[in-house]
Parts: sequence; structure tokens; C-alpha cells
Amino acid sequence: MSKILIVEDEAKIARFVELELVHEGNEVEKAEDGRTGLDMALENNYDLILLDVMLPSLNGLEVLRRLRSVKQTPVILLTARDAVMDKVSGLDAGADDYITKPFAIEELLARIRVALKRHSIPTTQTKTLSTNSGVMLDLDRHEVTVNGENVELTNYEFELLRTLMENMNIVLDRERLISEVWGYDYDGETNVVDVYIRHLRTKIDDRYGIKLIQTIRGVGYAIKEDRQ
Ligand code: CA
Repeated sequence: MSKILIVEDEAKIARFVELELVHEGNEVEKAEDGRTGLDMALENNYDLILLDVMLPSLNGLEVLRRLRSVKQTPVILLTARDAVMDKVSGLDAGADDYITKPFAIEELLARIRVALKRHSIPTTQTKTLSTNSGVMLDLDRHEVTVNGENVELTNYEFELLRTLMENMNIVLDRERLISEVWGYDYDGETNVVDVYIRHLRTKIDDRYGIKLIQTIRGVGYAIKEDRQ
């Protein structure tokens, strides 16, 4: 069970998310403005904070900045649609993740699970990532194997694969993949993602006869697996 703080002035959204999180067995507290949220975040030890950016009294980014000067509670930002600046400054200010409104609750829950899991891992972090289909990433050695056989990847190919594997079962859009792999200041073609996905498919899917990376039309890419 995790203790989660929702800082959101839109009561309907806050209530909806609260119900879902409580249903999943979490303990939830809520704040409706930035200042109250910051006070609560500083006074209590939450496992995770869902933080809206547009808030009365103190905006979410300011709450995040002040919180980060004191503690490292995981924070997922709720940003307005297409507010690219929010995402960039949010991640700069120390957010762990962001989700764009309106969001599907399943996606929010998946991201919450990832953020909680990432922070529950002690300093000896997982050094390998693997899929049911036999793909294994060794983060220390920067090596990829499929069924034990070495696959040569370029840096960007490796980072792209790593990002997808770290976010297993979450659909990542091109914008997000670009910011994760190429950096926020990348201003080249957005089809760079499609190009590199094609490289990965040639080197892994085609060669080993597996279907690793799924295309979700109109959205992006994901590696989907049944949970073990
Ligand atoms: Ca708001």
C-alpha cells in the first residue's frame, strides 16, 4: 500500500483519481491549491505526489521547486494538453514523470506503478532489463542479447530500446521518445523515432523472428507483455 498525495484544484479529476487509487489499495490525501499541497508534502512522507501544474496560490512547478530543495518524494506532473514548456520545465525542476490531460486512467496507474517501483529499488539498481521474448539489456556493459546472442546496436538504438523496456506495457509517443533518447533540445525530424524503430526491428524482430515493438497507430510505440 502506498500513500499518495493528489494536488489538483479540479475536484472532479481529483475525486476520480482518488477513487481509482483507493480501489487499488492505496491511501490517498488531497490538496486543492499549491500552497496547501506544498505544506502537506513537506509535513508528511508520501510515497508519491500527483501534482497539477495549473494551481491556485502557488503553481505546480513552484511547488515542485520548493519541495525539491528539501526532499525527493517522487512526483508525477499533470500538465495541460500541448503545454510543452510545462513538461520540459517540470522535468528540469525534478519531476519524475508527467502525464498530459486528458489522460486515460489506466495510463496514469501504469505510470504510478513505474514511479513507485523505481523508487522502491535500493541503490543497487537492476542492471539488466529483459523481456519474455528473450531480449536482455545489460545496462552496465551496454550490451543487448537475444536468447544469449549478442546484438550490435548504436547508442541511439540502445537508448531507444532501453526507454521502451524501462516503460514496459506503456505506450510512448514520439515526442516523449525523442525527449528521452535525443534530449529536449532536439529539433530535427520527428520521424527519427520511426527510423530508429525500423533499425531495431531489422536487427532484432526480423533476425530472431519475434514481435518486440508494437506500433500503436496514431499514438506511438510500446513493448507489450503479459505480466509475469
Ligand atoms: Ca488545474
